[in-house]
Amino acid sequence: MIDEDMRVLAASLLPHEMTHSWNGKYRRPKGLATPDYQVPMEGDLLWVYEGLTSYLGDLLTARSGERTPDQARDSLALIAADIDHRSGRVWRDLQDTADGVPSMQLASRGWMDYRRPVDYYDEDVLNWLWVDVIIRQQSKGTKSLDDFCKLFHGGQSGPPMLKTYTFDDVMNALNQIAAYDWRGFWTERLTTHGPGGPLGGVNGSGWKLIYDESPSPLTRANEHDGKTIEAQFSVGLFLKDNGGVRDTVEGMIGAKAGIGPGMTIVAVNGHKFSADAWHDAIAAAKPGSAPLELIVENSDYFRTIKLDYHGGEKYPHLVRDESKPDMLTEIYRAR
Ligand SMILES: [Zn+2]
Repeated sequence: MIDEDMRVLAASLLPHEMTHSWNGKYRRPKGLATPDYQVPMEGDLLWVYEGLTSYLGDLLTARSGERTPDQARDSLALIAADIDHRSGRVWRDLQDTADGVPSMQLASRGWMDYRRPVDYYDEDVLNWLWVDVIIRQQSKGTKSLDDFCKLFHGGQSGPPMLKTYTFDDVMNALNQIAAYDWRGFWTERLTTHGPGGPLGGVNGSGWKLIYDESPSPLTRANEHDGKTIEAQFSVGLFLKDNGGVRDTVEGMIGAKAGIGPGMTIVAVNGHKFSADAWHDAIAAAKPGSAPLELIVENSDYFRTIKLDYHGGEKYPHLVRDESKPDMLTEIYRAR
Protein backbone atom coordinates (compact mmCIF):
# COMPACT_ATOMS: atom_id res chain seq x y z
CA MET A 1 0.00 0.00 0.00
CA ILE A 2 2.91 2.40 0.62
CA ASP A 3 5.13 1.40 -2.32
CA GLU A 4 3.45 2.27 -5.64
CA ASP A 5 5.46 -0.27 -7.69
CA MET A 6 4.63 -3.12 -5.33
CA ARG A 7 1.03 -1.98 -4.94
CA VAL A 8 0.35 -2.03 -8.67
CA LEU A 9 2.13 -5.38 -9.10
CA ALA A 10 0.15 -7.03 -6.30
CA ALA A 11 -3.12 -5.14 -6.86
CA SER A 12 -4.98 -8.15 -8.23
CA LEU A 13 -4.27 -10.35 -5.20
CA LEU A 14 -7.22 -9.24 -3.03
CA PRO A 15 -9.75 -9.26 -5.91
CA HIS A 16 -8.44 -12.74 -6.84
CA GLU A 17 -8.83 -14.14 -3.34
CA MET A 18 -12.23 -12.50 -2.86
CA THR A 19 -13.39 -14.14 -6.10
CA HIS A 20 -12.53 -17.52 -4.58
CA SER A 21 -15.43 -17.04 -2.14
CA TRP A 22 -17.65 -17.89 -5.09
CA ASN A 23 -15.32 -19.60 -7.54
CA GLY A 24 -13.57 -22.13 -5.32
CA LYS A 25 -15.36 -22.14 -1.97
CA TYR A 26 -19.08 -22.03 -2.89
CA ARG A 27 -18.69 -23.60 -6.33
CA ARG A 28 -15.82 -26.14 -6.37
CA PRO A 29 -14.72 -28.77 -8.88
CA LYS A 30 -15.97 -32.19 -7.81
CA GLY A 31 -12.42 -33.59 -7.71
CA LEU A 32 -11.26 -30.89 -5.28
CA ALA A 33 -14.09 -31.44 -2.79
CA THR A 34 -12.65 -34.45 -1.02
CA PRO A 35 -14.18 -35.71 2.27
CA ASP A 36 -10.85 -36.07 4.11
CA TYR A 37 -7.07 -35.94 3.59
CA GLN A 38 -6.86 -39.64 2.68
CA VAL A 39 -8.60 -39.07 -0.66
CA PRO A 40 -6.29 -37.51 -3.29
CA MET A 41 -7.58 -34.33 -4.91
CA GLU A 42 -8.06 -34.26 -8.70
CA GLY A 43 -6.91 -30.96 -10.23
CA ASP A 44 -8.42 -31.43 -13.69
CA LEU A 45 -10.73 -28.39 -13.38
CA LEU A 46 -8.12 -25.97 -11.99
CA TRP A 47 -8.46 -24.04 -15.26
CA VAL A 48 -11.84 -22.98 -13.82
CA TYR A 49 -10.91 -22.78 -10.12
CA GLU A 50 -7.72 -20.75 -10.68
CA GLY A 51 -7.97 -19.78 -14.35
CA LEU A 52 -11.37 -18.09 -14.16
CA THR A 53 -10.45 -16.59 -10.79
CA SER A 54 -7.32 -15.07 -12.34
CA TYR A 55 -9.38 -13.55 -15.16
CA LEU A 56 -12.06 -12.22 -12.79
CA GLY A 57 -9.46 -11.02 -10.29
CA ASP A 58 -7.67 -8.94 -12.95
CA LEU A 59 -10.97 -7.64 -14.29
CA LEU A 60 -12.18 -6.60 -10.80
CA THR A 61 -8.82 -4.92 -10.15
CA ALA A 62 -9.56 -2.68 -13.14
CA ARG A 63 -13.27 -2.21 -12.40
CA SER A 64 -12.56 -1.23 -8.80
CA GLY A 65 -9.92 1.31 -9.87
CA GLU A 66 -7.05 -0.50 -8.15
CA ARG A 67 -5.42 -0.47 -11.59
CA THR A 68 -6.09 2.20 -14.21
CA PRO A 69 -7.26 0.94 -17.63
CA ASP A 70 -3.68 1.52 -18.89
CA GLN A 71 -2.22 -0.55 -16.06
CA ALA A 72 -4.80 -3.29 -16.58
CA ARG A 73 -3.90 -3.47 -20.29
CA ASP A 74 -0.17 -3.49 -19.48
CA SER A 75 -0.76 -6.43 -17.15
CA LEU A 76 -2.73 -8.29 -19.84
CA ALA A 77 0.00 -7.50 -22.41
CA LEU A 78 2.61 -9.09 -20.13
CA ILE A 79 0.52 -12.24 -19.69
CA ALA A 80 -0.22 -12.46 -23.42
CA ALA A 81 3.45 -11.97 -24.38
CA ASP A 82 4.65 -14.41 -21.75
CA ILE A 83 2.29 -17.18 -22.84
CA ASP A 84 2.87 -16.41 -26.54
CA HIS A 85 6.60 -17.07 -25.96
CA ARG A 86 6.16 -19.99 -23.56
CA SER A 87 8.54 -22.70 -24.77
CA GLY A 88 6.62 -25.39 -22.84
CA ARG A 89 3.68 -24.82 -25.18
CA VAL A 90 5.51 -26.82 -27.83
CA TRP A 91 4.95 -30.01 -25.85
CA ARG A 92 2.59 -29.61 -22.92
CA ASP A 93 -1.20 -29.32 -23.06
CA LEU A 94 -2.88 -26.90 -20.68
CA GLN A 95 -4.97 -29.76 -19.25
CA ASP A 96 -1.79 -31.54 -18.24
CA THR A 97 -0.59 -28.50 -16.28
CA ALA A 98 -3.75 -28.81 -14.14
CA ASP A 99 -3.58 -32.60 -13.85
CA GLY A 100 0.11 -32.47 -12.91
CA VAL A 101 -0.18 -30.11 -9.94
CA PRO A 102 0.65 -32.64 -7.21
CA SER A 103 3.94 -33.59 -8.88
CA MET A 104 5.29 -30.45 -10.54
CA GLN A 105 4.16 -27.25 -8.86
CA LEU A 106 7.03 -26.86 -6.38
CA ALA A 107 10.05 -27.60 -8.56
CA SER A 108 12.86 -25.00 -8.83
CA ARG A 109 12.78 -21.90 -11.07
CA GLY A 110 15.22 -23.26 -13.68
CA TRP A 111 13.52 -24.74 -16.80
CA MET A 112 10.18 -23.46 -15.52
CA ASP A 113 9.40 -21.88 -18.90
CA TYR A 114 9.81 -25.28 -20.54
CA ARG A 115 7.84 -27.14 -17.83
CA ARG A 116 5.14 -24.44 -17.50
CA PRO A 117 3.85 -25.98 -14.25
CA VAL A 118 1.17 -23.38 -13.38
CA ASP A 119 -0.07 -22.06 -16.72
CA TYR A 120 -3.66 -22.91 -15.77
CA TYR A 121 -3.51 -19.48 -14.10
CA ASP A 122 -2.17 -17.14 -16.79
CA GLU A 123 -3.04 -19.01 -19.97
CA ASP A 124 -6.61 -19.17 -18.73
CA VAL A 125 -6.73 -15.40 -18.28
CA LEU A 126 -6.40 -15.37 -22.08
CA ASN A 127 -8.88 -18.22 -22.56
CA TRP A 128 -11.60 -16.77 -20.30
CA LEU A 129 -11.18 -13.37 -21.99
CA TRP A 130 -11.75 -15.24 -25.25
CA VAL A 131 -14.92 -16.79 -23.77
CA ASP A 132 -16.11 -13.35 -22.62
CA VAL A 133 -15.53 -11.99 -26.14
CA ILE A 134 -17.38 -14.91 -27.79
CA ILE A 135 -20.38 -14.50 -25.45
CA ARG A 136 -20.54 -10.79 -26.33
CA GLN A 137 -20.26 -11.58 -30.05
CA GLN A 138 -22.80 -14.42 -30.00
CA SER A 139 -25.34 -12.39 -28.00
CA LYS A 140 -24.75 -9.21 -30.05
CA GLY A 141 -23.59 -7.38 -26.95
CA THR A 142 -26.55 -8.28 -24.73
CA LYS A 143 -24.70 -10.87 -22.58
CA SER A 144 -21.24 -11.24 -21.10
CA LEU A 145 -19.28 -13.45 -18.73
CA ASP A 146 -20.91 -11.45 -15.92
CA ASP A 147 -24.17 -13.28 -16.79
CA PHE A 148 -22.39 -16.62 -16.63
CA CYS A 149 -21.03 -15.75 -13.17
CA LYS A 150 -24.47 -14.73 -11.94
CA LEU A 151 -25.97 -18.00 -13.19
CA PHE A 152 -23.12 -20.30 -12.16
CA HIS A 153 -21.88 -18.65 -8.96
CA GLY A 154 -24.94 -16.79 -7.74
CA GLY A 155 -26.75 -18.46 -4.84
CA GLN A 156 -29.08 -17.89 -1.95
CA SER A 157 -27.98 -15.79 1.00
CA GLY A 158 -27.64 -17.79 4.18
CA PRO A 159 -25.26 -20.26 5.76
CA PRO A 160 -22.10 -21.36 3.87
CA MET A 161 -22.68 -24.00 1.19
CA LEU A 162 -20.52 -26.09 -1.10
CA LYS A 163 -21.92 -26.92 -4.52
CA THR A 164 -19.60 -29.03 -6.65
CA TYR A 165 -19.47 -29.03 -10.44
CA THR A 166 -18.12 -31.05 -13.37
CA PHE A 167 -16.83 -30.16 -16.85
CA ASP A 168 -20.35 -30.76 -18.22
CA ASP A 169 -21.90 -28.36 -15.68
CA VAL A 170 -19.57 -25.59 -16.90
CA MET A 171 -20.39 -26.29 -20.56
CA ASN A 172 -24.16 -26.38 -19.85
CA ALA A 173 -24.05 -23.08 -17.98
CA LEU A 174 -22.08 -21.42 -20.80
CA ASN A 175 -24.66 -22.67 -23.28
CA GLN A 176 -27.50 -21.22 -21.22
CA ILE A 177 -25.87 -17.80 -21.60
CA ALA A 178 -24.93 -18.07 -25.30
CA ALA A 179 -25.31 -21.08 -27.57
CA TYR A 180 -21.91 -22.04 -28.94
CA ASP A 181 -19.71 -25.10 -29.38
CA TRP A 182 -18.19 -24.59 -25.91
CA ARG A 183 -17.23 -28.23 -25.60
CA GLY A 184 -15.25 -27.99 -28.83
CA PHE A 185 -13.73 -24.67 -27.79
CA TRP A 186 -12.52 -25.88 -24.41
CA THR A 187 -11.38 -29.27 -25.69
CA GLU A 188 -9.24 -27.46 -28.26
CA ARG A 189 -7.87 -25.02 -25.66
CA LEU A 190 -7.11 -27.76 -23.11
CA THR A 191 -5.83 -30.67 -25.17
CA THR A 192 -3.82 -29.06 -27.96
CA HIS A 193 -0.76 -26.86 -27.69
CA GLY A 194 1.35 -24.24 -29.45
CA PRO A 195 3.78 -22.91 -30.43
CA GLY A 196 2.31 -19.48 -29.85
CA GLY A 197 -0.34 -18.47 -27.33
CA PRO A 198 -4.16 -18.31 -27.51
CA LEU A 199 -4.60 -14.65 -28.48
CA GLY A 200 -8.13 -14.91 -29.92
CA GLY A 201 -9.60 -13.08 -26.93
CA VAL A 202 -7.07 -10.24 -26.99
CA ASN A 203 -7.49 -9.76 -30.74
CA GLY A 204 -11.27 -10.21 -30.60
CA SER A 205 -11.56 -7.59 -27.85
CA GLY A 206 -10.22 -4.93 -30.23
CA TRP A 207 -6.54 -4.82 -29.21
CA LYS A 208 -3.26 -6.06 -30.65
CA LEU A 209 -0.13 -7.30 -28.92
CA ILE A 210 2.94 -5.39 -30.14
CA TYR A 211 6.53 -4.98 -28.96
CA ASP A 212 8.63 -1.84 -28.80
CA GLU A 213 11.75 -0.59 -27.03
CA SER A 214 9.97 1.20 -24.16
CA PRO A 215 9.08 -0.89 -21.13
CA SER A 216 5.64 -0.21 -19.63
CA PRO A 217 5.62 1.16 -16.05
CA LEU A 218 4.52 -2.35 -14.98
CA THR A 219 7.57 -3.96 -16.63
CA ARG A 220 9.79 -1.37 -14.92
CA ALA A 221 8.12 -2.16 -11.60
CA ASN A 222 8.72 -5.89 -12.21
CA GLU A 223 12.41 -5.25 -12.91
CA HIS A 224 12.80 -2.92 -9.96
CA ASP A 225 10.96 -5.16 -7.50
CA GLY A 226 12.49 -8.45 -8.67
CA LYS A 227 15.99 -7.08 -9.47
CA THR A 228 15.62 -8.56 -12.96
CA ILE A 229 16.24 -7.67 -16.59
CA GLU A 230 13.26 -8.60 -18.76
CA ALA A 231 15.08 -9.93 -21.82
CA GLN A 232 12.79 -12.89 -22.49
CA PHE A 233 11.05 -11.29 -25.49
CA SER A 234 14.31 -10.17 -27.15
CA VAL A 235 16.93 -12.89 -26.66
CA GLY A 236 14.80 -15.31 -24.62
CA LEU A 237 16.61 -14.91 -21.28
CA PHE A 238 15.11 -14.31 -17.84
CA LEU A 239 18.03 -12.44 -16.22
CA LYS A 240 18.83 -11.15 -12.78
CA ASP A 241 20.32 -7.65 -12.79
CA ASN A 242 23.66 -9.17 -11.73
CA GLY A 243 23.77 -11.33 -14.89
CA GLY A 244 22.43 -14.52 -13.32
CA VAL A 245 20.32 -16.58 -15.73
CA ARG A 246 17.08 -17.50 -13.95
CA ASP A 247 15.60 -19.29 -16.94
CA THR A 248 15.61 -19.47 -20.72
CA VAL A 249 12.99 -19.59 -23.44
CA GLU A 250 14.00 -22.73 -25.29
CA GLY A 251 14.12 -22.20 -29.05
CA MET A 252 15.10 -18.53 -28.80
CA ILE A 253 18.58 -17.24 -29.57
CA GLY A 254 20.03 -17.29 -26.03
CA ALA A 255 19.14 -20.93 -25.37
CA LYS A 256 20.18 -21.94 -28.89
CA ALA A 257 23.62 -20.46 -28.24
CA GLY A 258 24.00 -22.71 -25.18
CA ILE A 259 22.98 -20.43 -22.31
CA GLY A 260 20.97 -22.20 -19.60
CA PRO A 261 19.48 -21.61 -16.16
CA GLY A 262 22.07 -21.41 -13.35
CA MET A 263 24.76 -19.82 -15.54
CA THR A 264 25.88 -16.21 -15.02
CA ILE A 265 26.72 -13.67 -17.69
CA VAL A 266 29.80 -11.96 -16.22
CA ALA A 267 30.73 -9.69 -19.15
CA VAL A 268 29.05 -8.20 -22.19
CA ASN A 269 31.08 -6.77 -25.10
CA GLY A 270 34.18 -6.68 -22.89
CA HIS A 271 32.47 -4.82 -20.02
CA LYS A 272 31.73 -6.21 -16.58
CA PHE A 273 28.05 -7.17 -16.60
CA SER A 274 25.53 -4.62 -15.33
CA ALA A 275 22.00 -3.71 -16.37
CA ASP A 276 23.36 -0.59 -18.09
CA ALA A 277 26.06 -2.56 -19.92
CA TRP A 278 23.41 -5.03 -21.09
CA HIS A 279 20.98 -2.37 -22.36
CA ASP A 280 23.82 -0.42 -24.04
CA ALA A 281 24.99 -3.57 -25.84
CA ILE A 282 21.48 -4.48 -27.06
CA ALA A 283 21.04 -0.91 -28.37
CA ALA A 284 24.49 -0.87 -30.02
CA ALA A 285 23.91 -4.22 -31.75
CA LYS A 286 20.65 -3.12 -33.35
CA PRO A 287 21.94 -1.02 -36.25
CA GLY A 288 25.17 -3.00 -36.68
CA SER A 289 26.15 -6.50 -37.73
CA ALA A 290 28.60 -7.37 -34.92
CA PRO A 291 27.24 -9.99 -32.52
CA LEU A 292 26.88 -9.47 -28.77
CA GLU A 293 29.90 -11.04 -27.11
CA LEU A 294 29.19 -12.55 -23.70
CA ILE A 295 31.46 -14.22 -21.18
CA VAL A 296 29.33 -16.80 -19.40
CA GLU A 297 30.25 -18.55 -16.17
CA ASN A 298 28.99 -22.11 -15.75
CA SER A 299 30.07 -23.35 -12.31
CA ASP A 300 33.91 -23.52 -12.60
CA TYR A 301 34.05 -22.89 -16.36
CA PHE A 302 33.92 -19.78 -18.53
CA ARG A 303 32.80 -19.63 -22.13
CA THR A 304 32.60 -16.86 -24.69
CA ILE A 305 29.24 -16.94 -26.39
CA LYS A 306 28.32 -14.80 -29.39
CA LEU A 307 24.70 -13.80 -29.92
CA ASP A 308 24.00 -12.68 -33.45
CA TYR A 309 21.02 -10.61 -32.31
CA HIS A 310 20.06 -7.23 -33.82
CA GLY A 311 16.38 -6.91 -32.91
CA GLY A 312 16.75 -4.34 -30.09
CA GLU A 313 14.82 -4.37 -26.84
CA LYS A 314 11.33 -5.91 -26.99
CA TYR A 315 8.68 -4.97 -24.45
CA PRO A 316 5.01 -5.91 -24.86
CA HIS A 317 2.08 -3.49 -25.10
CA LEU A 318 -1.51 -3.62 -26.29
CA VAL A 319 -2.50 -1.13 -28.99
CA ARG A 320 -5.98 -0.48 -30.28
CA ASP A 321 -7.12 -2.29 -33.44
CA GLU A 322 -9.54 0.24 -34.91
CA SER A 323 -11.07 -2.34 -37.27
CA LYS A 324 -12.87 -3.96 -34.31
CA PRO A 325 -15.13 -2.73 -31.49
CA ASP A 326 -13.30 -2.00 -28.23
CA MET A 327 -14.69 -4.69 -25.93
CA LEU A 328 -11.73 -4.65 -23.53
CA THR A 329 -12.43 -1.11 -22.33
CA GLU A 330 -16.05 -2.13 -21.72
CA ILE A 331 -14.92 -5.27 -19.85
CA TYR A 332 -12.66 -3.18 -17.57
CA ARG A 333 -15.24 -0.39 -17.05
CA ALA A 334 -16.53 0.09 -13.49
CA ARG A 335 -20.09 -1.16 -12.97
ZN1 LIG B 1 -6.35 -18.60 -6.60
